[in-house]
Amino acid sequence: MGKPTGFLEFKREIEQYDAVENRVSNYKEFTIPMEEKALKNQGARCMDCGIPFCHSGCPLGNLIPDFNDNVYKGKWKEAAKILHSTNNFPEFTGRLCPAPCEEACVLGINEDPVTIENIEKNIVETAFKEGWIVAQPPTSRTGKSVAVVGSGPSGLAAAQQLNRAGHLVTVFERDAKVGGLLRFGIPDFKLEKTIIDRRVAVLEEEGIVFKTNAHVGKNISVETLQEEFDAIVLCGGATQRRGIPIKGADLKGVHQAMDFLKQNNQRVDGITQFDEILTAKNKNVIVIGGGDTGSDCIGTSNRHGAKSVTNFEILSKPTIGRPANQPWPYWPMRLRTSSSHKEGVERFFSISTKEFLGDNDGNLTGLITTEVEWIFKNGERPQLIELPNTEKHWDCDLVLLALGFTGPETTLVDQFGLKTDFRTNIDASTKNYMTNVPGIFAAGDIRRGQSLIVWAISEGRQAAHHVDVYLMGKSNLPLKDDNDLPRI
Ligand SMILES: Cc1cc2nc3c(=O)[nH]c(=O)nc-3n(C[C@H](O)[C@H](O)[C@H](O)COP(=O)(O)OP(=O)(O)OC[C@H]3O[C@@H](n4cnc5c(N)ncnc54)[C@H](O)[C@@H]3O)c2cc1C
Ligand code: SF4
Repeated sequence: MGKPTGFLEFKREIEQYDAVENRVSNYKEFTIPMEEKALKNQGARCMDCGIPFCHSGCPLGNLIPDFNDNVYKGKWKEAAKILHSTNNFPEFTGRLCPAPCEEACVLGINEDPVTIENIEKNIVETAFKEGWIVAQPPTSRTGKSVAVVGSGPSGLAAAQQLNRAGHLVTVFERDAKVGGLLRFGIPDFKLEKTIIDRRVAVLEEEGIVFKTNAHVGKNISVETLQEEFDAIVLCGGATQRRGIPIKGADLKGVHQAMDFLKQNNQRVDGITQFDEILTAKNKNVIVIGGGDTGSDCIGTSNRHGAKSVTNFEILSKPTIGRPANQPWPYWPMRLRTSSSHKEGVERFFSISTKEFLGDNDGNLTGLITTEVEWIFKNGERPQLIELPNTEKHWDCDLVLLALGFTGPETTLVDQFGLKTDFRTNIDASTKNYMTNVPGIFAAGDIRRGQSLIVWAISEGRQAAHHVDVYLMGKSNLPLKDDNDLPRI
C-alpha cells in the first residue's frame, strides 16, 4: 500500500491554519487546503506494514491503507468508494475525529504517523466537488417503516443504512434543524453548518423524511410512534449536563457551556431572539473543564472579544509524550493543544473550584480555587485530596461550566419504560442493540454515554444491521465486530 519507500522520502505534513488574528474575527473554518501533490505524498507514507493496526484503532474499521494507496495513485474516486464503504459521513470525522487510528499507526512507533484524518477529509471533499456523492435510493422498498429519534451522527447513520436496506425511515428531531451536537454543540469554526446541510440534502433525496420541532415524549407521543412504525431507533444523545454544586452556582454569570455554545451557533445561523444574550465580550472568562467542550468555549469566547480567557482542569497535567503505561497502539492520555487553545488561554491543571463569589445584585465577581492532588493506589479508585494553604481568589465576570454529561435525559427512558445501565445510559447490548422493549433499539451516546462522532456513526451502522435482521430475519447491511477495539 502507498509507496514502499514513501515514509523514508516524505515527512508528515498537515493542513496549516489561517493566522490567529484573522480567524478569531469570524466563525468560518480556517484550515488552508493542501496541494494535490502534497496529499499524494502523504498517502505514499502509508508503508505496507502488513498488519494495519490503524483498522482496529478506528472505531469504524475504516480501510485506511486501501484509501491511502488510491490517494497516492491519484485514484480519488476509488478512494471515496472505499472510504464510504465503512463511513457514512467522512466529512464530519475528517474534520473532528481525534484520530485514534493515527495513534495506532505502525509508522507512529518510531516516526510521525500517517496523516489519516486529513487524507480522509480531502477524499470526501474531492468527491463532493467532483459530484460523485449522489443519492443512492434503494431499488425496492420492503414495506416496513422505522422511526429514528434524534438526528445527531448516530441517528443520521442509522437512517441512511436502514433506508438503503429499503425501509421507510422517518427521523424525529426536537430541534429546529437536523444534526444534533454537530449542529448546536460544535462551533462553526470547527464545522461549518453547510457541511451538514449538504449531506442531509442527499439523505432527503434518498427518501428519508425529517421531522423537526418533533419532540418525542412531548409533542409526539411514544404511543403514536409505537403504533405507526415497525421499529424505533433511539439516538437522542447523552446531554444531561453535569453541574457544580457549590456556593454561588446560581449567580448571574455562571452558565452551562452548552447554553453558551448552542446560543452562539444559533446566532451564527441568524437567530436573534433570546431572553438573554450570552456573550464573553469584554469579560474575564473562566472555563471550567478541560475537554472538547471547554476548548470550544475558549475559541468562542475569543471570537466574542473576551478580555481574558482562563481554563481550569481538575485532572493533573498530562505528559506531552505517550505515558509508559499506555503503550502503542492504544489511545494515550497526553497533553492535547487544540487550535482554540492556541488562540489565547491560560490553562491550569490540578485545580478545583470551591466557591463562586458575587455582589449584592447577585452578579458573579470571582471565584475561589484550591490546588488538588490525585493519589493512585493499586486496585483502588484514584483519590482526590486538596492541598492545604493553596486557596486562591480569581476575578471573573463569566464562568462556563464544561464538566461533561452524566447520561441521557430521562424523557425517552421513562416513557418507553426502558432499562438503564449503572451509568444511566440505555441498556442495549452490542449483541443486537435492542432494549428491553422488543422493537426498540438504541445507538450512539444514548447507549454508550458521551463519546465521539466516530463512535456515534459506528453505533448507528451497527444498530441498523440489527434492526434490519429484526424486521426481515436477515440483513445485507455491513456489520463489524467491535468487541476487541480499544475504547477512547
Ligand atoms: C461542545 C461539544 C464538542 C464536541 N466536539 C467533538 C469533536 O470535536 N469530535 C468528536 O468526535 N466528538 C465531539 N463531541 C462529541 C460528539 O458531538 C457526540 O459524541 C456525538 O454528537 C453523539 O452523537 P449522537 O447522535 O449519539 O447524539 P447527539 O449528537 O447528541 O444527537 C442527539 C439528537 O437527539 C435529539 N433528541 C434528544 N431527545 C429527543 C427526543 N425526545 N425527541 C426528538 N429528538 C430528540 C437531540 O435534540 C439531538 O439533536 C463534542 C460534544 C460537544 C458537546
Ligand atoms: S474516522 Fe477517525 S479513527 Fe477512523 S480513520 Fe477517520 S480519523 Fe481515523
